Amino acid sequence: MPHPPSPAAGPAPRVRERHGRRVALVTGASSGIGAAIAERLAADRQWRLILSGRDPGRLEAAAGRTSGLALPYDLREPGMARSLADRALGICGRIDLLVAAAGVGWAGPFLRMPHSAVDQVLTVDLAAVVHLVRRVLPRMAEAGRGHVVLIGSLAGSVGVRDEAVYAAAKAGLGAFADSLRYELAGTGVKVLHVVPGVVDTPFFARRGALYTRGWPRPMAPERVAEAVVRAVRRDRDEVYVPGWLRWPVGVRALAPSSFRRLAARFG
Ligand code: NAP
Repeated sequence: MPHPPSPAAGPAPRVRERHGRRVALVTGASSGIGAAIAERLAADRQWRLILSGRDPGRLEAAAGRTSGLALPYDLREPGMARSLADRALGICGRIDLLVAAAGVGWAGPFLRMPHSAVDQVLTVDLAAVVHLVRRVLPRMAEAGRGHVVLIGSLAGSVGVRDEAVYAAAKAGLGAFADSLRYELAGTGVKVLHVVPGVVDTPFFARRGALYTRGWPRPMAPERVAEAVVRAVRRDRDEVYVPGWLRWPVGVRALAPSSFRRLAARFG
């Protein structure tokens, strides 16, 4: 980190943003989990919200509901994550909370996955997030505080048939979060990795394969939003939503061969 906080400077004073509120930048805020997080933050009335998404109409609607500022960006495009961070920092001068919720899926056999879809998933779900964090972190470290929230997926923790690239991208996010946390120790900046199960959002329709299993039942995105806000308040490193998802991950860690046999059979 280029500018670690000087211990001599003492703790940085809290919020000094123009309206007395901290600044949150939420990507994927035009839909699903990101939109629910934006609404949950808006309900707190403590945040100045910068919302990003791809579809300008959906994003404006979300911004209207939350009194946020809409910054539409297509994160597939090279350099857009950096531009988004620079624009948000240029407008607000600071970002206290970054929620990286933008993401896309693709389901089907890997050997049939078009290269364009490979690029899209790896770029939006992983590379853009890393670039965004790279741009936002120096100011947080300088300020001596801040939260980075990465929305991962259970697919990244255990691997899922027909979702190889999506799972790889989400696994990358988890490893990124774990690694970064070591570097940020003592800076006051926290990294939260969120691992949701199945969430009732347009995600499945958009990836072209609906969620058809009877169990686990999809949960409302508001449940994830509540868990995120609570985990940020408590400076947590990682949160599974629902919490019992830790169990399959634990079983896989302790008995990988058995887990794989069961997963191959029951999927
Ligand atoms: P969603 O309703 O489809 O929302 C996806 C969000 O990502 C939208 O705001 C979308 O913007 C944005 N986005 C997609 N491609 C983008 C691009 N190229 N540039 C900028 N923004 C882009 O899906 P969701 O379920 O809320 O997903 C949010 C996150 O949760 C994703 O990272 C996903 O992997 C993760 N997740 C979802 C589930 C689930 O079961 N739904 C489970 C675990 C993890 P537009 O609406 O403007 O296109």
